Amino acid sequence: MDRLAVYRRDLDGLARLSRRRVLSHRQGIDFSSNDYIGLAQSPRLVAAARRALDAGVPVGAAGSRLLRGQTEAQARFEDVAARFFGAEAALGFGGGYVANFAVLTTLPQRGDLLLMDELSHASTHEGARAGRAQVATFRHGDVGHAADVIADWRAQGNTGAVWIAVESLYSMDGDRAPLDELMALADEHGFLMVDEAHATGVFGPQGRGLAHHLEGRDNVVTLHTLGKALGGSGALICASRVLIDFLVNRCRPFIFATAPSPLMAEVGLESLAILRDEPWRQAVLQGHIDCFGAEIARRLPHLRVSGSQIVPLIVGQNAPTMELAAAVQSRGFDLRGIRPPTVPEGTSRLRLSLTLNASRAQVIRLAELLEELWPDS
Ligand code: PMP
Repeated sequence: MDRLAVYRRDLDGLARLSRRRVLSHRQGIDFSSNDYIGLAQSPRLVAAARRALDAGVPVGAAGSRLLRGQTEAQARFEDVAARFFGAEAALGFGGGYVANFAVLTTLPQRGDLLLMDELSHASTHEGARAGRAQVATFRHGDVGHAADVIADWRAQGNTGAVWIAVESLYSMDGDRAPLDELMALADEHGFLMVDEAHATGVFGPQGRGLAHHLEGRDNVVTLHTLGKALGGSGALICASRVLIDFLVNRCRPFIFATAPSPLMAEVGLESLAILRDEPWRQAVLQGHIDCFGAEIARRLPHLRVSGSQIVPLIVGQNAPTMELAAAVQSRGFDLRGIRPPTVPEGTSRLRLSLTLNASRAQVIRLAELLEELWPDS
């Protein structure tokens, strides 16, 4: 009996659709990571980690926060981060995926509506699926549609709270959510949950994110990941004290998991200090964004650019997307093809991310190369 046949068949099916993934090593100039402001290997973060180890900060938390896993480093980090982001309180998680899942399975209650943008990250979809609230989606970025969905739900006699879940900067399209309009809707109906994964460290004053002006409200919950622009790993949920206390008491992925590494808390503290001390990082990245946008507008004018550090260059079908990615990679640029189900069918793309790990000259060289290799040109 071949117990593995079912898995092999599935993998073969993916291969036929040019969708079978393999893990490949990093190679070439970085145009694919989320290390937007170049902190992951920065001397300051490395030194902070070394200092912390030398000072006896443990590598592992060794338990759940409610048991022995509570560390001084983590508590201090949360305190500083809450003040930095402008929230009443913050709570750390091992990563953004688990943080989204944790919040969405814990805060929206039975009888509530969790209403999310259709292009929300997989972790939001999974949290919604596993949670207690009713779930609906609205068309990407379309506040009018979100309002209609809520009106229909209310018309059915529902009186619960509405949790609107969005990303401030969408991970695959690099466009922004209309946060102020969504906030107005949330003020009327419930809560706004903003995943700042790709905006933290990049946008807003000192890289505090695109929802920085909304932080501190009692109906706003934000997610700041530490593994992207901040250069480490983990995530923070920022919210009112009562919601954070509720998570501590009711959130199973928090209660029954080993706390994040205290070493990462020390690294996170240094990342926040860098955001305060080194605003030039955001400025250089903005320079890359503007430069690449201008190059593409000139060389491949039919392509749309996002205006952020995440630039989706949509090819369409899977095979040509992967061929283009391979051709660019073979010339020394690390840039990846993204296929369904990560993005909708027919919108396979090169997802380019601009980071400080590439120079301005390399950004321009990549634009030249794309013009040369683009399937239609
Ligand atoms: N939210 C968004 C929008 C993301 O893009 C990601 C990571 N790709 C996550 C959450 C998950 O964060 P982490 O990688 O820290 O688990």
